[in-house]
Amino acid sequence: MASDRTDPPPRARQMYELMRELYPICRSITGNGARETLSIIGRHLPPELPLRVTEVASGTEVLDWTVPKEWNIRGGYIETLSGQRVVDFANHNLHVLNYSAPVDRRISREELDTHLYSLPDHPDWIPYRTSYYAERWGFCLSQRQRDTLTDPEYVVRIDSTLEPGHLTYAECSVPGQSEDEILLTTHICHPSLCNDNLSGIAVATHLLRELAAQPKPRYSLRVLFIPGTIGSICWLASNRERVQHIKHGMSLVCLGDDNPFTYKRSLAGGREVDRVMARAIGELGSPHQVIDYFPYGYDERQFNSPGFAVPFGSLMRGQHGQFPEYHTSADNLSFVTEQNLEASLGLVQNAVGMLNANRTFRNLRPYGEPQLGKRGVYRALGGTDIADTQLAIFWVLAMSDGKHDLLDVSERSGLPFALIRDAAAILEQTELLAAQTA
Ligand code: ZN
Repeated sequence: MASDRTDPPPRARQMYELMRELYPICRSITGNGARETLSIIGRHLPPELPLRVTEVASGTEVLDWTVPKEWNIRGGYIETLSGQRVVDFANHNLHVLNYSAPVDRRISREELDTHLYSLPDHPDWIPYRTSYYAERWGFCLSQRQRDTLTDPEYVVRIDSTLEPGHLTYAECSVPGQSEDEILLTTHICHPSLCNDNLSGIAVATHLLRELAAQPKPRYSLRVLFIPGTIGSICWLASNRERVQHIKHGMSLVCLGDDNPFTYKRSLAGGREVDRVMARAIGELGSPHQVIDYFPYGYDERQFNSPGFAVPFGSLMRGQHGQFPEYHTSADNLSFVTEQNLEASLGLVQNAVGMLNANRTFRNLRPYGEPQLGKRGVYRALGGTDIADTQLAIFWVLAMSDGKHDLLDVSERSGLPFALIRDAAAILEQTELLAAQTA
């Protein structure tokens, strides 16, 4: 992918540094790793946008699910009988099966083998495996490490707890002029994996920082920092009345790798968020793809489900399961770059701006073209790129029939959305255009 040669702004480095700070923490869908992660995210948010943390007790019924026991881990290793640690959680938190039950025993190599996970095709990488809802124990290791386990017996020890506790998630809201909102989700449940999904966390955190410094937008915006699946189910279970206010939704995942952008449409497809994302990605002029909805992935599955039916897409670079480093130790700090995070944040920021600005207008002087000169339109153009803005003005006047929105005008004319938006502002200011009220 062609990259911009100019140096990324300071926020790009700050996003990367946030990932670096979060990378060593062993996270899961519950436990202290999630709490520590949220407390770091909270410290990176401006004081006017506090992070609101919610704890949901184990055993709580949430929609069709039950909040599981809380998992915490202090250590885990495989040791030879002579006391040499051959696989150690202290070296990499992917080494222990995420949500692993505790174990402390001597074990034959044959039996141990049934508790091991490795990747023969990538012999130096450690896979990331979980077992949230079936209680078992296990170790993940590189194939090379696995091949060295030739002793007849080993000692296995996992110092973890699975006990009644809580599931922790957090949200942060930017108030808008309306109670209607844009909802973004990003999952916080993965341990030391960067693209999936510290990249999404970094982009979402910095989006909030940017929005805090701007005038009050039209829509409120909420970001959920939640464990995947069970986290959004918990949020939905206790926020049913809010769902009607979610006008546009999107999950932010895998946003730091070199792959071109992929936007996955909402289940309904063709909704405003889908059109905005297609336009915003298209305007970047770089390779990208817009794909149809499918019921794998992240929190879009919960929000698009019948009943809630929120138009909820997903923005990513590498697609889950489709890049070799996915869910392995190779998804590390060198797999993501400041430049890619910066481009992702820029795209999300632009898309949010487009959602806020996209309106349907009515031409107040239909029946022929209004005479722009006498209405002060040319004066209002000021220092703008006059030729393009004039063309945009004619497109907006031509299509503002109370049915087509600015995105339609941008699509039909092929002109950038920002130009169409600015043209509409000039026409509104000179009383040739009025926003259609729903
Ligand atoms: Zn994942």
